[in-house]
Amino acid sequence: MRGRVILAKKTIDDVDVRGKRTLVRVDFNAPQGEGGAIADDTRIRAALPTIRALLARDAAVILMSHLGRPKGKPDPRYSLAPVAQRLSELLGQSVALAPDCVGPATAALALALEPGGALLLENLRFHPEEEADDPAFARALASLGDIYVDDAFGAAHRAHASTAGVAAYLPAVSGFLMQEELRALGAALDHPERPFAAVIGGAKVSSKLGVLQHLLTRVDLLLIGGGMANTFFAAQGYAVGTSLLEPDLVDAARALLEDAKRSGAQIVLPTDVIVAERVALDAAHRAVGIAEVPPDWSIVDIGPKTRSIFAHALASCKTVLWNGPMGIFELAPFAEGTRAVAQAVADSGATSIVGGGDSVAAVEGMGLAGRMSHISTGGGASLEFLEGKTLPGVAALEDK
Ligand code: ADP
Ligand code: MG
Repeated sequence: MRGRVILAKKTIDDVDVRGKRTLVRVDFNAPQGEGGAIADDTRIRAALPTIRALLARDAAVILMSHLGRPKGKPDPRYSLAPVAQRLSELLGQSVALAPDCVGPATAALALALEPGGALLLENLRFHPEEEADDPAFARALASLGDIYVDDAFGAAHRAHASTAGVAAYLPAVSGFLMQEELRALGAALDHPERPFAAVIGGAKVSSKLGVLQHLLTRVDLLLIGGGMANTFFAAQGYAVGTSLLEPDLVDAARALLEDAKRSGAQIVLPTDVIVAERVALDAAHRAVGIAEVPPDWSIVDIGPKTRSIFAHALASCKTVLWNGPMGIFELAPFAEGTRAVAQAVADSGATSIVGGGDSVAAVEGMGLAGRMSHISTGGGASLEFLEGKTLPGVAALEDK
């Protein structure tokens, strides 16, 4: 079934925020380096358009986020203090950090916040009630604001107090980042310009089986690479040596190949691969046809023939969705397949959407991120969206 997936949710443009306290869920779960310093501020930057718009419209902006996995109790290693500092620099205005995300001291700060001012609440996950979606905790959060704004697409697949529960107590609208994610991913699934191809790779079939099944009902072409292709090779009767393989999923892979015959979508599997003696930078490696994988070698990338078959197929597509690297791209000798796909997607001129933490890192590392139409900020959330699931954080928002 190709159900409609466009989710027209109210945004901050649909509500009057002037003089209001806006409680904004952001995804400030930024990777940290030495001593807690922010190693990558992409997620902080991604929320800036919404924050800036709210401040410019004279709202008081109360920001909330999780950071890491502090396991339900305060832990200074997971304090949002470094985020408050970086955000202050990026905004050019000071953003105070509240001592907690709930409680009287935090409530007093939120109440005292002037229009045009910003306050960051301390890590939501210092309280176990956050991930438990505890109603009393959600209500305590809600008491800090007049309007709830959700801009944390990356957390929208979780039914937590700050992503879903809080919406029961306040008008709930999306921020610009959430809106753009829903628009880009929704448009690709709902009314893609055709031909529409999905390129799916990455380590395992098991983590993306639902995505493959759902996309098969929507795409014209499904290109499969990465470690997950091995399970499809096994389903076709090929030996894959010491490659990553999920024997439990061979039947599911075979069923997908059968489904494709009925659905009219074409699945394209690699015809050649790079095999390596070991998974290591200095390992001997060479290209072989998929019927010639040596018994004690591993498949580590798609081969050169497959690179050109994939590139050729993508060249005529009008919409391309890409999730999952084609090989063990972290090791330079095995990054060529991923690089070729990134280049082909960029050169195709198609509307291009890249999702998945590793795929996004690969595209960024190759300097091609700027040539993609949309880079999703949500790894797990974008996968669940592509499975056709309803995300709790999206369902909680008011329809337009
Ligand atoms: P994403 O984060 O983009 O969704 P995944 O997490 O599913 O992607 O997969 C990324 C991982 O898959 C990378 O760490 C990469 O090394 C691994 N991978 C890709 N191809 C292979 C392969 N042939 N064998 C083993 N691992 C692979
Ligand atoms: Mg990953």
